[in-house]
Amino acid sequence: MSSPNPLLIASGLPPFDRITPEHVQPAIRQLLAESRSLVESLTQPDTPSTWADFAAPLTDGMERLSWAWGIVGHLHSVNDIPAWRDAYNTMLPEVTRFYSELGQNLALFDKYKAIRSGSEYAGLTQAQKKIIDNEIRDFRLSGAELPEADKPRFQAIQEELASLAARFSENVLDATNAFAEIITDEAELDGLPEDIKLAARAAAEAAGVEGWKFTLQAPSYLPVMQYATNQALRARMYRASATRASEFSDSGSKPEWDNSGLMTRILALRQEEARLLGYHNFAEVSLVSKMAETPAQVLAFLRDMAAKAKPYAEKDMAELKAFAASELGMAEIEPWDVAFISEKLLQARYAFSEQEVKQYFTEPKVIGGLFQVIETLFGVRIKPDTAPVWDDSVRFYRLENPAGELVGQFYMDLYARETKRGGAWMDEAVTRRRTPSGIQTPVAYLNCNFSKPLGDKPATFTHDEVITLFHEAGHGFHHLLTQVEELGVSGIRGVEWDAVELPSQFLENFCWEWAVLKDMTCHVDTGAPLPRALFDKMLAAKNFQSGLMTMRQLEFSLFDMLLHSDFNPQTQTVMDLLAEVRQEVAVLIPPAWHRFPNSFSHIFAGGYGAGYYSYKWAEVLSADAYAAFEETGNPLDQATGQRYQEEILAMGGVRPALESFKAFRGREPSPDALLRHNGMIPA
Ligand SMILES: [Zn+2]
Repeated sequence: MSSPNPLLIASGLPPFDRITPEHVQPAIRQLLAESRSLVESLTQPDTPSTWADFAAPLTDGMERLSWAWGIVGHLHSVNDIPAWRDAYNTMLPEVTRFYSELGQNLALFDKYKAIRSGSEYAGLTQAQKKIIDNEIRDFRLSGAELPEADKPRFQAIQEELASLAARFSENVLDATNAFAEIITDEAELDGLPEDIKLAARAAAEAAGVEGWKFTLQAPSYLPVMQYATNQALRARMYRASATRASEFSDSGSKPEWDNSGLMTRILALRQEEARLLGYHNFAEVSLVSKMAETPAQVLAFLRDMAAKAKPYAEKDMAELKAFAASELGMAEIEPWDVAFISEKLLQARYAFSEQEVKQYFTEPKVIGGLFQVIETLFGVRIKPDTAPVWDDSVRFYRLENPAGELVGQFYMDLYARETKRGGAWMDEAVTRRRTPSGIQTPVAYLNCNFSKPLGDKPATFTHDEVITLFHEAGHGFHHLLTQVEELGVSGIRGVEWDAVELPSQFLENFCWEWAVLKDMTCHVDTGAPLPRALFDKMLAAKNFQSGLMTMRQLEFSLFDMLLHSDFNPQTQTVMDLLAEVRQEVAVLIPPAWHRFPNSFSHIFAGGYGAGYYSYKWAEVLSADAYAAFEETGNPLDQATGQRYQEEILAMGGVRPALESFKAFRGREPSPDALLRHNGMIPA
């Protein structure tokens, strides 16, 4: 008898010691076929529309597929050798098609609606009710409930929006790539760091030209704006970047890449889609599945924050001007001077060596410090555990409650490898739920891309890397500490998009807490903890120009929200609206020819339309949650930790995030803590 395909076990810890790329195609094909026939039988008229007869078996069946496909996706991310890449890519289209069909399956929608209106609903658990409600909401937002006559138009809008979004970003990309600044006189490169010059030299060689080549891509553009003393060069590149994909073609952008018409069309189609779905505007549609309730609420949030932050932004600007005048002999500041002067000011006032800081964050201390924070706050124990892994450097841990019972487990894959995708991320391996045989405990993957240890010394991390680790651990413990027993709203599932970063950003705060840091650091050679004076410099640099940066984020957010809720193309243009927003919030008004919206891909080509505010929103939530700990006088206060765990982490997506927040904090979120953490404290 041949051994069974390990991807068909479909529960528990992934058997990484047995799974090979050859298992993928047969297992996933079989699971897709099983899932299709399950959906087919569950949507038959004689299947009773009840939780036990419909929702529960559907969940079980879908979990088998997502367990197996999740492992394949994980291995594709952390062990991207050709065989795994092929295995993944071969099945990706079929899996994607299956899930998109599921989202359009109106027979499933009918079953959910029947449960919703049936007599059983009132007696379901809160989690079960929320799952049914979420399913119905998502079907509605994808047009399932439209009159038959409107459906073709709705579908046509979706398709046109998808192709406009693709064209929007292609135009930005083409316009970005069309510009090149070739410098042949090295004197014109004064101020630029050597590595930037070397890269520009290599770019010129690759293009077959003499000298140095600079482009509008960030790694080339930003250093020029920051370091080049050549003001004319900065001005040319600034103009080129600011007029990408616009009606201006003096910097190499072509008329056919002008995004102006596309923006108007995208906005009109989104408005039409919103009307068809029964909403006043697209912002309302965007907010249905978010924590924020109405566009007015978001606008009020942004304007309140702007009113509070603006004086600090003005102070930042005044400081910049004074420094430019006294130290650099620049009486006037042009928009292309701001990054340059800021860099000089940062160096003069707040500079410290990242490399020096890094010597203090040794891996055992950092991991120990992270675990200590978790154990103290949440009353759990973290212990080494064993399981098959995909690389020898991967560690595996278990989480136990005070009674010694298993709460969850997690893998930690810290180091960069050639076969691992970049960045840092948390992923679910197994999600907590109740099964007929008891509670299925959750399992998480924590993935980072840090440097390996060299020789016999422990690895050292930059402070940014430590923050990254805490951020992903925050997502991880959101997943691991849930108490929810239904899959669809367990852990991070079902948590609103603008609230899901709360637990991750929350944990980052401990990386700025002296009481935590001094025990979490140990110089790799001397064993000394981080000196307080160095920490103070890190803190000052953290808040450098935070007023200006906050106002910039608020300007983008306000523009986005107004564009999707209060914009009339009959009476104004996109640029008119932006000018109004700038009058309201900007501290430095860019030139009239600046065409920022034409390359604002986040909102026109990405998923951030009427959602850009989420960045600030989640920061406010996490800072305000953290302030509850600060208010006790002890950032590691256990009673507050327990409440945070019970009201926020444990609840998953069972109830609206605002309810969870209010249950924890006893009030609505307030931006005061974020302003304070950013150094914006009223005198
Ligand atoms: Zn995150």
